[in-house]
Amino acid sequence: MNVYDGQRITNMLEKFGMIQTDNVADADLIILNTCAVRAKATDKVYSALGRIRRTKKKSALLGIVGCVARESGADAFKRIPELNFVLGPQSYHKIPDIIKNPDAKLLNIDLGGLEKFDELPQMTKSPTVAYIPIQEGCNHCCTYCIVPYTRGRELSRPYNDVIKDMINAANNGAIEICFLGQNVNGYKYTDSDGKLYKLSDLIRETAKRPEIHRIRFTSSYPTEMSDDLIDMFGTEPKLLPFLNMPIQSGSPRILKKMNRPDDINAYKTIVHKLKSVRPDIQISSDFIVGFPDETDDDFEQTLNIAREIKYINSYSFKYSPRPHTAAAIMPNQISEQIKSVRLYKLDSLLNENQREFNMSCIGREMICLYEGIDKTGNNMVFRTPYMQPCIVQGTDDKISPLQKIKITDANKASLRGEIIK
Ligand code: SF4
Repeated sequence: MNVYDGQRITNMLEKFGMIQTDNVADADLIILNTCAVRAKATDKVYSALGRIRRTKKKSALLGIVGCVARESGADAFKRIPELNFVLGPQSYHKIPDIIKNPDAKLLNIDLGGLEKFDELPQMTKSPTVAYIPIQEGCNHCCTYCIVPYTRGRELSRPYNDVIKDMINAANNGAIEICFLGQNVNGYKYTDSDGKLYKLSDLIRETAKRPEIHRIRFTSSYPTEMSDDLIDMFGTEPKLLPFLNMPIQSGSPRILKKMNRPDDINAYKTIVHKLKSVRPDIQISSDFIVGFPDETDDDFEQTLNIAREIKYINSYSFKYSPRPHTAAAIMPNQISEQIKSVRLYKLDSLLNENQREFNMSCIGREMICLYEGIDKTGNNMVFRTPYMQPCIVQGTDDKISPLQKIKITDANKASLRGEIIK
């Protein structure tokens, strides 16, 4: 979501004749697009602001947008007096106001619904992977999560607006569409004739575009994996065989405390259904370790589910208490030391799963999407249908973005391959 927001901010500012610079000292306008999902992310924003205010030009405008802006509100101006604007995730389309009136202090952290999508200019050049938000906010209220506070209640964008964005992206160079939402598979929009549209309708319509070769979506809520959506994996080959479906914990007791779906068997049934319609599908998950009151036995159940599902490409984090959340004031908070030990154990297991899966890809041929040149400048990086980076030796300015690649080697982090001519 933040990648998308960043692209749209850049796109919006280009209309004002601005160009991007990587050098803070050169910039006339500096924007930090922020994430508040963990305390560490918020802390990083303020330490970055501390550095930037010392290096920026005196006249440069400085602002934060996104979830930390919403979380901090007017306090941000007290902490960093050099800030000119603080705009929440649904108000960043107001950045031009500060350019027009640079002496003002601009604060807007309202949850303004979907208004920003109407205000943002259409993209005139799309990246190969186009991120398209289809809904914002979340109604699930997991007890650890700050998103319902920072992004508000769940709102699905009108079907026709999403399709318009998708066609625009396809016409302007996109090859892959990634639908976005905090609860993306909960997308539901009813038009004025009473017709209900779901994520499966968006996928079906997108797959009709010849320019689009790959479709994916993130992030999914397990109980919103409806049968029509599961069936799409069996019927629509452009839908990538890779799904992020966070379970967070393998313990029903902890899941209940998290206010998450706590029926592990129901979760496994969804995975089973997905595998039966698309045998090559792989699942990834997000995990939180050290949630309040998590015992060794609860944690063992998390390891068990990770072993059983054999997740690939997963994300695991130590529980981080966030303001405005119920879990932050729950009893039996877990010490940092225990959290670190559990995270290490889980990461080791997830890394092993990943390494095993990557090794199993050796010898396979996959259609991969070109991403760019690696840091050495000597190799091309592609993304497989499972989002693994795949490195191919050599560079080619004129390479077409989709290539059939034979996987020749693998390690935990990446694959190596050769283009099949
Ligand atoms: S479903 Fe996701 S975004 Fe919504 S409250 Fe839970 S963790 Fe947060």
